[in-house]
Amino acid sequence: MTGWIAIAGMGPGDAALITPEVTAALAQATDVVGYASYVARVAARADLTLHASDNRVELERAAQALELAAAGRRVVVVSSGDPGVFAMAAAVFEALEEGHPDWRELDIRVLPGITAMLAASARAGAPLGHDFCAINLSDNLKPWDLIERRLRLAAEADFAMAFYNPRSKARPEGFGRALDVLREACGGERPVLFARAVCTPEEVLRIVALRDARPEMADMRTMVIVGSSRTRLIERPGAPILYTPRSAE
Ligand code: SAH
Repeated sequence: MTGWIAIAGMGPGDAALITPEVTAALAQATDVVGYASYVARVAARADLTLHASDNRVELERAAQALELAAAGRRVVVVSSGDPGVFAMAAAVFEALEEGHPDWRELDIRVLPGITAMLAASARAGAPLGHDFCAINLSDNLKPWDLIERRLRLAAEADFAMAFYNPRSKARPEGFGRALDVLREACGGERPVLFARAVCTPEEVLRIVALRDARPEMADMRTMVIVGSSRTRLIERPGAPILYTPRSAE
């Protein structure tokens, strides 16, 4: 049996947003590897082994997936959203680079998914319609000083900014500091989107001015998008539309 490994994005939550390519890979798989809550989104089958693990053991999980594929299994590594965005694809390649030389001969594919930033943007309007950047606010894998520096430079460049992993129980302080840095750099007017559990039954969208943004408005299921100086709201009956025009001066 020829093994392979597909690192697949499961999208933000709604089954309708999983690509047919990912569905086909799962149908052919013998093994699914990933963080427990993403593995739980895969339908169980008698001929499918589910390997659910803790979120923090990414490199071990990646090496396990490579070993399984090397042994002839057909392995899907699942991530939420897109696997290349703060997720398992880079972890698998790190394990590949450092691991057994034979692993480099494996059939390895990355199957894209709809990342949280794009799902949140679509639900609110088009806040990423002009130039933007994406920043992971977790300091698990980088120093906090680097995060603050990137926030200041992104503000100076007048990007709209999409923030992943804004706030966790283990790191309650950081997001408040990030908001202070942004207020200092951009003033209080910028619209800020808090998009929680987008494309799931628990979805909540909230838009406030940067001056009114509070750390408690975000948790680990929230995507935060801070507008550029051009980002604005179109008021209308029901929820307003948040968008950034295509052009800048
Ligand atoms: N690979 C994923 C991101 C992993 S980092 C992707 O492409 O979407 C995890 C962070 O993604 C969370 O802390 C949150 O900020 C964001 N996120 C993931 N799914 C989300 C959803 N359905 N709604 C809002 N934010 C989400």
